[in-house]
Amino acid sequence: MKAAAKLLAWFDRNGRTLPWRKTRDPYRILVSEVMLQQTQVSRALVFYPQWLERFPNWKALAKADNASVIRAWSGLGYNRRALMLRDIALQIAVNPRLPPTNYHLPTTESEWRTLKGIGPYTAAALASFSLHERVMPVDTNVRRVLGRFLLGIPFPSPKQDERIRKAADAFLPRRGRFYDVPQALFDLATMVCKKTPDCTSCPMRTVCPAAAKFLSGKVRIPKRSVAKAAESRHRNKPHPDRIYRGRILKLAGRSGGFLLARLGETIDPGYDDALDRAWLAAMVERLVADRLLARTTKTVSLPR
Ligand code: SF4
Repeated sequence: MKAAAKLLAWFDRNGRTLPWRKTRDPYRILVSEVMLQQTQVSRALVFYPQWLERFPNWKALAKADNASVIRAWSGLGYNRRALMLRDIALQIAVNPRLPPTNYHLPTTESEWRTLKGIGPYTAAALASFSLHERVMPVDTNVRRVLGRFLLGIPFPSPKQDERIRKAADAFLPRRGRFYDVPQALFDLATMVCKKTPDCTSCPMRTVCPAAAKFLSGKVRIPKRSVAKAAESRHRNKPHPDRIYRGRILKLAGRSGGFLLARLGETIDPGYDDALDRAWLAAMVERLVADRLLARTTKTVSLPR
């Protein structure tokens, strides 16, 4: 059995059933991809149907104002993603460079790449899952698995992406279910080929040059395989700033907004105006700069 066939046979037995895998609608696929960028699958499973109920298609989302999309995204974190998603919907509604069918929907991976907010990974994911184009979306998980079983590198870095893409092109079947291969890789990465891989139960073990390295016990597992960007946080506060920014947005979403003078003590029981005013002001400034917050001299609210 060829390597890709082995992987797909394993996927058929073990793959996760996820709602965004049951559709080829690029809108639904994009919503799931953006949600999954910095959110666990279990959390995306809760928010995905709620978002689709509120904004069922490109048109509904393109018409939404900032406040509506920020409210609907509330709880998922990294709220700029909500505005980015709406801005992509706006481009699809009006982009004159794209064919004038189905809301000017892109019809190839390279057309998806022309949209602002769509990076190489997302363009490839949309092309693969929606258009069934023979391309490989390479994210952290796919990089790890393909880097291991195609190149024998235990911990591949983004520098190896070009080599991985070339090797993936030879690995992807020319016909049949090549569009299921990335989904199978996502699941293999989540269940088997994790940072510390379980090579003994892996379907790719016999064709994977990294398996012997791991099974020999000689591979040192790094504490962090990918350096994470340090989160900003106040050294005297228990949570990272994003938690407090989320609280600010929640209060700003109230009808009529929220009083600036009471903001600090409401988002943080230990707030001390003399010590924390600059910290609070910096968070408010950042939210305003990110188009997530509107501010007057007295109140904060969600922008229209
Ligand atoms: S054999 Fe091990 S290293 Fe290779 S793909 Fe499977 S789990 Fe990953």
